[in-house]
Amino acid sequence: SDIGAQKDRVVTEEEWLRKWEMNNIGFHKEQGHPLLQKYLDVLLNGRSGLRIFFPLCGKAVEMKWLADMGHSVVGVEVSEQALKEFFAEHSLPYCEEPVPEISGAKKLQSTSGNISLYCCSIYDLSSSIVGKFDGVWDRGALVAVNPRDRQSYASLMITLMEKNSSYLLVTVSYDPNKHKGPPFYVPESEIKSLFG
Ligand code: SAH
Repeated sequence: SDIGAQKDRVVTEEEWLRKWEMNNIGFHKEQGHPLLQKYLDVLLNGRSGLRIFFPLCGKAVEMKWLADMGHSVVGVEVSEQALKEFFAEHSLPYCEEPVPEISGAKKLQSTSGNISLYCCSIYDLSSSIVGKFDGVWDRGALVAVNPRDRQSYASLMITLMEKNSSYLLVTVSYDPNKHKGPPFYVPESEIKSLFG
């Protein structure tokens, strides 16, 4: 479970913004992720009206799915373009407001109120700003975080979780010496030590 050369790799926020500008977003799944459908029951566990968090959300269509099921969705994403594309592609009206606790951050909220997307770095969030969540959909998030930041990412995620919450995590398995990522390879042993 050696992560090889990936351990020192850094993708900057500017690089992510550029990927969105260049439409270099091969990670986006137009049809949504089959693993969320498959494990939806594990995430919901029979509960309704949950607060679900989408870290590093991009324009994930699964946010619309869960909102349509009556849950309340919160996402965070550095690219404002991604968030605007999300609302536009689902024809959802939204309004924008500043986030007083985070300089330069904005919150884009669907007019219906059940989808709130923060445009800022996830490292700027805390439970005093976004509250705690009953469920997390982590796809393209832990695996997109720079390897050196995994510990702070995981610690933050733990502080955002309600006691009886469920966390669905999607990772990818491949030889980290053959591709530079992202998505990065996160060994199972590391996931265990990050989340306990
Ligand atoms: N989860 C989404 C997007 C995956 S790609 C999906 O499944 O489609 C990773 C996303 O994280 C990109 O959109 C990138 O712009 C965003 N991102 C990268 N670093 C971030 C950070 N520190 N805070 C918030 N968003 C970030």
